[in-house]
Order: sequence, then structure tokens, then C-alpha cells
Amino acid sequence: MSKDYQVKAKKHLGQHFLTDESVAEKIASTLTGNGYTKVLEIGPGMGVLTKYLLKKNYTTYVIEIDTESVDYLKTHYLQLSDRIIERDFLRYNLNAVFNGEPFAIIGNFPYNISSQIVFKALEMRDQIPEFSGMFQKEVAQRICSDKGSKVYGILSVLTQAFYDAEYLFTVPPTVFNPPPKVDSGVLILKRKENYHLPCDETLFFRVVKTAFNQRRKTLRNSLKTFNLPDNLKASSIFDKRPEQLSVQEFIEITSQIEKL
Ligand code: SAH
Repeated sequence: MSKDYQVKAKKHLGQHFLTDESVAEKIASTLTGNGYTKVLEIGPGMGVLTKYLLKKNYTTYVIEIDTESVDYLKTHYLQLSDRIIERDFLRYNLNAVFNGEPFAIIGNFPYNISSQIVFKALEMRDQIPEFSGMFQKEVAQRICSDKGSKVYGILSVLTQAFYDAEYLFTVPPTVFNPPPKVDSGVLILKRKENYHLPCDETLFFRVVKTAFNQRRKTLRNSLKTFNLPDNLKASSIFDKRPEQLSVQEFIEITSQIEKL
């Protein structure tokens, strides 16, 4: 027997439920299905996206932290029942379910943990060929932005080192309940054919984070902790600030530091 009720939105869980079916359908259609047979939806809430994902050729799993939403999904989407993971995405070891297999990620994500979701996905990049979904517009733009842009930063460089990032479309606050304060943006990330970097990847993460943590300084100053020798520091690339550097240039700098 299906109970007809709605989940009351909880602010601390970033709950903004999408109310426009056509937007839900459009987001659910962003994944190409290439290179995987399983998809994980983060934060399904009352399943507005899930409904459309379940019509696709891949197998949909969902991970949801809110017990009330999980109860709702269990009563309204019977075919999903053994693929509902009632956990915190940020803390859960997904290989308990995916066991090393590839899977895509999708969602109308909880905006309060947007960056952390992207960082966790990047850590699992070997298993994640594709990632799409909705963030607050500014974060979606940041992830997809090029060097020189005001919002270009750690998220842009780290994501684009491994993925081709494309901003797809903007969604206004009016199609959510309750409406968020800002516009939202939908993006897709497709892992690059050869996504292994020609430098030490752990060091690359450190270099990018260190440079952007002192965004207004030249690299010569912000990268001091790496004890760069004078001949390297003399190179003109170290006159630049991090937002002026392409992903490729960050890789080159990392390779140089690695050789020290
Ligand atoms: N996809 C739904 C809900 C979006 S709101 C829709 O479009 O209507 C974000 C959802 O993420 C909420 O259901 C919230 O409970 C869930 N959520 C928040 N933090 C989470 C976490 N750490 N792990 C898994 N789900 C989370």
C-alpha cells in the first residue's frame, strides 16, 4: 500500500526538492551511458530524478542520508528497494556496493556539501567515467571555468586535469521547494581518454591547493614551502598568479618540482 505524503524539507541537509518534472527529466538525460552499467544518484530525496533514471538502460542505485526520504522512496519506488543506500555519501565506502566496478554519479546535489562531493568523486576517478548533475550556479561555473576567470580555482584545475567539463544549463530558484537563494547550474564531466597525469598526481594536488590558498601572490611566493631552487624560481612562469595558469602549466610546474 502506497502512502501519499511529502517529506518536509530539512535545511541542514540542503534539501531543496525539484518540482518541475521537465527539468528533472532533462537532468536525468545528461548521462551518456558510455563505459558503465551502473549509476549512483546522490541525494534522491523524494525521487523526482530517480523516476526518470529508472527508465534508462543502466541500473540505478541511490544514496540518501535522510531516513524520512528513504522511507518515502521505499514505499513509492518498490523496484529500487535493494539499491537504496541509507548513508552519508561523504563517509560511505562505495566499494561495499560497487566492488571496484565503474559507475557514474548524478544528482540534484545537496549544495551545502558541493565541493566535498566533487573532491570525493575525484578521489574515485578510476571508477567514475562520468559525473553530471546540479549545483548552485556559481559552483557549476567554477568547475567548468577557464584560466583568467574570476571563479577559476582549485575545483576547476583539479577537475579539468582528469575530466572534460561542460556547463549545460541554468535552473531558476522558482522550480524548487523551498526555493534556494541562488540560481542553479547543471554540468557534465566526462573523464578524459587518457586521464593519468604525466607527473606525480598527489604532488599535483598539493601544488594546486598551495598555490590557490594564497591566490593573490605570485607562485614564486606562494610555493615557497616547496623550497624551489633559484634557477627554477627565475623562470617567468613563477611571476604568475595561480588564476593565470592553465591545467597544463600546473602539470609542468609539478613535474619540475618533482625532479628536485
Ligand atoms: N534530488 C532531490 C533532492 C535534492 S535536495 C530533488 O531533486 O528533489 C538534496 C538531497 O540530498 C536531500 O534529499 C538530502 O537529504 C540529501 N543529502 C544531504 N546530504 C547528504 C549526504 N551527505 N549523503 C547523501 N544524501 C545527502
